[in-house]
Amino acid sequence: MFSSVRVRLTIWYTVVMTCVLLVLAIATYLIVLNNAIRRTDSAIVEQADSFLKTVDAEANGQTGVEVLLESVTVAISEHRFRDTLFIVLDQSGNIVASSQEPERPEEHSAALESLHGSLHSLTGSKYPFDTTRSGRRAYRRYFRPFSAAQKLCTLVVLQSLHPQQEFLETLIGTFALVIPLAILLASSGGYFLARRSLAPVTAMGAQAGRISADNLHERLTIENAKDELGALALSFNNLLDRLDQSFEQQRRFVADASHELRTPVAILCGEADVTLSQPNRSPEEYRESLSILHAEAYRLKQIVEDLFTLARADAGQYRLSPTSFYLDELVAECARNMRTLASAKQITVRCDAQKEMPLEADETLLRRMILNLLDNAIKYTPQNGSVTITCGEQASQYSISVQDTGQGIPADAQPRIFERFFRVDKVRSRSESDGGGAGLGLSIGRWIAEAHGGCLELTRSDPNGSTFTALLPSSQTSPLIPRLSSSR
Ligand code: ADP
Repeated sequence: MFSSVRVRLTIWYTVVMTCVLLVLAIATYLIVLNNAIRRTDSAIVEQADSFLKTVDAEANGQTGVEVLLESVTVAISEHRFRDTLFIVLDQSGNIVASSQEPERPEEHSAALESLHGSLHSLTGSKYPFDTTRSGRRAYRRYFRPFSAAQKLCTLVVLQSLHPQQEFLETLIGTFALVIPLAILLASSGGYFLARRSLAPVTAMGAQAGRISADNLHERLTIENAKDELGALALSFNNLLDRLDQSFEQQRRFVADASHELRTPVAILCGEADVTLSQPNRSPEEYRESLSILHAEAYRLKQIVEDLFTLARADAGQYRLSPTSFYLDELVAECARNMRTLASAKQITVRCDAQKEMPLEADETLLRRMILNLLDNAIKYTPQNGSVTITCGEQASQYSISVQDTGQGIPADAQPRIFERFFRVDKVRSRSESDGGGAGLGLSIGRWIAEAHGGCLELTRSDPNGSTFTALLPSSQTSPLIPRLSSSR
């Protein structure tokens, strides 16, 4: 039960509310009590002033015990108030006169309660008041020294606090009734509010619980995108979007990869079956069959290697092995290597790499990228065409451009050529005798350029040919290969 956020919120709310109400009640009680006592005290002082004025007036400068007694008796008779008792004490604390009425003995006993102790400690002090009790009733007591008829005396005024006590008791009774009621209302209101505010979370939880790999396209309902829960649902939906995209990519990748692998494997099996179906064949027939098997096995090896490279790059496990070398030399060497392939199609390969371009980078990976670009250029250029590879330097970047005189790439296919397994003309590229690729060369090439902090773009493509340009920072520092971005 306490594991529910609703219940915990309600308990917290109730506890805080109870504390606030109790503090408020105690503070109110103390303020009211203090005010009542102050008002009573000033009323007592006023009564004492009036009493002593009467005594003074009656004594009228005369002296003697009789004069004192007479004056006090007159003052007592003139100051008969309900709930107030006047007592006059002589210097030794003996009662000279008192307004005590026999039917109210409790007043008298309250007035005498530790009278002498208080007389000593309070008479002449800054605040000569104390509170005494008789039974359940409380009384306020005031000590005022005075002299009349040349006698030093003390006036003790006692006033009942009964009306104030009654008022405070009513106040406590009201608090005792109102506070539990307020707490009950507040806690049930708090529970209701917590339930209402958390209802969308419960609904979101249930909805999210129903989403699995099979229905990853489903999204949480957003009731108000501007509040916190809406923002949470939005973030969750964005997360689902990314997961969905990445699932879809993985699915496509696996489907494309198996499709690409199926063809060479089918050719290998078919060729082997056909060759073995006859018990005896001529050496030429075996040679021809073996060369077909070899070509397909090579192609299979190529695809598997490319897939392995991409898988490691995706997992962020590929580490660059940087070495120092000259990029212009690497480019010239690649161009030389590709000339044999190009000459079979009477294609001229020109290399323009004059300037020295020292670089610290992964030479093997860059070689792979350059060979891929040259291979594509030769593959997609008709006979008697030309391929030119040019190196340059601009703004602390090296550029490598591979330009061909092929038929170009259709405008609608241009944005997709860097996607994995994408080929403009699937049938043609696969059936090429020089080994049509699986559509992975450019995506690997772009990844290699980006891994070195650079980029690879198609900078021109029209019916007269295409140009691919790779830009690489001229100073390489990080040996770590970043993960491939999920959009590819
Ligand atoms: P492939 O291994 O099929 O060549 P790539 O990723 O290297 O795969 O290239 C993807 C597609 O881009 C190719 O199938 C081809 O259609 C197109 N392409 C790449 N380079 C060129 C080029 N120089 N001229 C024309 N089309 C090209």
